Amino acid sequence: MNAHARTPAVAAPAPLIDPFGRTISYLRVSVTDRCDFRCVYCMSEHMQFLPRRDLLTLEELDRLCSAFVARGTKKLRITGGEPLVRHDVTKLFRALSRHLASGALEELTLTTNASQLSRFAGELADCGVRRVNVSLDTLDPDRFRALTRTGAHEQVLAGIAAARAAGLKVKLNVVALKGVNEEEFVPLVRFAHAGGMDMTFIEVMPLGELDGPERADQYLPMQAVRDRLSEAFTLDEIDDRTGGPARYMRARETGGRIGFITPLTHNFCESCNRVRVTCTGTLYMCLGQEDAADLRAPLRESADDGLLHQAIETAILRKPKGHDFVIDRTATAPAVSRHMSMTGG
Ligand code: SAM
Ligand code: SF4
Repeated sequence: MNAHARTPAVAAPAPLIDPFGRTISYLRVSVTDRCDFRCVYCMSEHMQFLPRRDLLTLEELDRLCSAFVARGTKKLRITGGEPLVRHDVTKLFRALSRHLASGALEELTLTTNASQLSRFAGELADCGVRRVNVSLDTLDPDRFRALTRTGAHEQVLAGIAAARAAGLKVKLNVVALKGVNEEEFVPLVRFAHAGGMDMTFIEVMPLGELDGPERADQYLPMQAVRDRLSEAFTLDEIDDRTGGPARYMRARETGGRIGFITPLTHNFCESCNRVRVTCTGTLYMCLGQEDAADLRAPLRESADDGLLHQAIETAILRKPKGHDFVIDRTATAPAVSRHMSMTGG
């Protein structure tokens, strides 16, 4: 008998397909709920963070991500809170880079406020990270401090520069905030495109209770963003999709791309290929719904991944068709009670 005949054929684990026929190929993992900033639209000033014992260890996060990769996840985004404030987080990137090397994973990336990027950009690039999303809502240092409550603008700009110097492609994310950064949309686009960076505008979403401004006061529909940009740029529709919910346009004057994420005014759920896991191992099948599945218990219950895979499969069968965010003055509570820093953006 030859060696092949003796080895039973091992079927490749089945891909994850939800009840609406959507294949789940994109995982976002929040590695911490902590952050060095307290952005006014994201967190309250005195956030209570989770006790460290509730968090998955880096090894558990690696097991969890690897289980998803085995089931067809092609894109993995590490986020938070601020992912780069998690102690030793580059160990996780280093471990996960083996899936890039094997070809199982197509992209390993992160969303960051860039405060720590000067320190980590080189190492991230070395781990196979090619792109990073950086949140930058203003070019004005004083406004930046007011918006983030604790952030230092020059540190973030230095982080962006370090990322670019390390060869990372940077995309800037701007949350559109009524009466706050409206006048800066055009300068922000110019800044991004002058540096060869894409830029995406995001509508503020009703996630988590805030002790600061009212949601309805912050909310600016994406059409208002476009109208303002149209005063300075000729915007051409392009049908680029990056696997995310953004719709893209190109500014003729700069040649750069501008993305628009419109969770409230435009429903992008029909092509949703993603799920999210929090730093405690809670799997959310939809950013805008409360339903969730605990993956920490099956992870901790057994050293092999059988229970974990079962829990993931069962959860994917509950992925809802879509969300129904609404921000208006009659809604007194957020659509979902957890903050964006919990689920990960
Ligand atoms: N700390 C990192 C950062 O700021 O990039 C990663 C986590 S943060 C929660 C991810 C993204 O979510 C950021 O671009 C942030 O601006 C956005 N975000 C936070 N709260 C939001 C909200 N309520 N509505 C829309 N976007 C939000
Ligand atoms: Fe921190 Fe990012 Fe939330 Fe700002 S948006 S408080 S940087 S997690």
